[in-house]
Amino acid sequence: MAEIHRKPHAIMISVPYQGHINPFLNLALKIASNGFSITFVHFEFVHHRLSKAHHCNKTHVDIFSQARESGLEIRYTTISDGFPLEYDRNANFEEYWGWILREFPARVDEFVGKIIQSDPYLVHFLVADTVFSWPATIAEKYNLVNVSLWTQPALVFTLGYHLDLLRENGHFPCKDNIDEEVNYVPGIKSISTRDLISVVKESEQGQYSMVESVHMGFDQVKKADFILHNTVYELEAETLSALNKYQPNYAIGPVNFFKNLPSYTVSKSLWSESDCTQWLESKPPSSVLYVSFGSFVLTSRQVIEEIAYGLLLSEVNFIWVVREGILSSGDTNIMPDGYEDEVKDKGLIIPWCNQIRVLSNPAIGGFLTHNGWNSTIESMWCGVPMICYPFLYDQPTNRKLVVDDWKCGISLCDGTISVDRKEVAEKIKSFMSGAASKSLRQEANKVKTILHHALEVDGSSQGYFDRFIKDLKEKIH
Ligand code: UDP
Repeated sequence: MAEIHRKPHAIMISVPYQGHINPFLNLALKIASNGFSITFVHFEFVHHRLSKAHHCNKTHVDIFSQARESGLEIRYTTISDGFPLEYDRNANFEEYWGWILREFPARVDEFVGKIIQSDPYLVHFLVADTVFSWPATIAEKYNLVNVSLWTQPALVFTLGYHLDLLRENGHFPCKDNIDEEVNYVPGIKSISTRDLISVVKESEQGQYSMVESVHMGFDQVKKADFILHNTVYELEAETLSALNKYQPNYAIGPVNFFKNLPSYTVSKSLWSESDCTQWLESKPPSSVLYVSFGSFVLTSRQVIEEIAYGLLLSEVNFIWVVREGILSSGDTNIMPDGYEDEVKDKGLIIPWCNQIRVLSNPAIGGFLTHNGWNSTIESMWCGVPMICYPFLYDQPTNRKLVVDDWKCGISLCDGTISVDRKEVAEKIKSFMSGAASKSLRQEANKVKTILHHALEVDGSSQGYFDRFIKDLKEKIH
């Protein structure tokens, strides 16, 4: 053990949601593989969920044990958020996240303090998610170098960074259904108010915890020493260049596809994964639409029904991830009665899967997605065009990038959540086989090439990562 902390050592505490866990774990492996030692911290309930999802009754299992066997120095530990394990943190998001913003920092303080006091765990730096409300405060108190990981596109970061400008110009809070041009934010040539992050919308102002979260997170990140972005320079050059005028930014994405890491040995999924390979192999190339709204979105029975019958009417093959707990009503009976009998072999409805494995299968021809950033970038990595159906947070802004800027997707409906089965069916049909589908596929392949090249030895993201490591070492010594 004494050996273990001769290397510069970081504490990394992960946000307890799937869309943050995945990039954060990959970043931990990548930093460790560059000669650093990591203490990786999961929330206790996440650790229990991982153990359950991977059918492992031993709750003390160390998710990094195999990574360590391959030579990486990663210790694994947990922190309690103070809530019972079975408390539903998704359904009670407003209460839960408000507590995480305001009360949890005291626990982090105590936790980090203990690690620092206990020789030999000398800590040099902190790597934290930008959405937390405490990284700069803790880093300053314990004299740690402060590295922030932003898991969404740089465009979304820039909007959060310049909330004051949006406020000055009357766009925060912003009326819900207006279409005004925002052309005063550095690094953003032009964006419609419809495509702004949902927390600035008037209707969201009741969601105190999210609005407060953006305020607190961006106040904190303005004091970070390094900001890492899960994006690629070539895709967001103007936005990233403008940000560099304020602080050192490094576009190192797509983080979930870092090369030569034992990433597959580390449990990440909070749900058990269904294996779709056999079913996919029975379908022709590019014939299957993959449908998923991610780990977090809650929706109504009506939306589920319209999507369900829209898929059926389209006559397209599909895999649909219908997550347990997706209904905002809390109802556990999700699908319309008899639906699965009607679908027969045309569709596979599953509670969760290994999304990257599914998207990489040649049978997949498109992705009907909520445009969470991980899903978006995973789809682009696989060259799979998207039908975009954003719900909230960064998702409407991510849609703009996919549809308007990179042209590798279409919108399901015009910025509203309400959908109609006939419209859904028509959109899906023309997306999968209509005249426009060829050009969507071509554009998706262009973006795929950019993403893959970024992680090559001479690619921009690898270059930024190398520069980050060099700058970090200089700062630590
Ligand atoms: N995911 C998965 N299996 C599924 C659905 C999603 O592994 O059945 C993963 C997906 O690969 C992505 C993450 O869950 O990495 C979801 O993150 P995203 O940012 O897309 O959306 P969020 O869940 O944060 O809304």
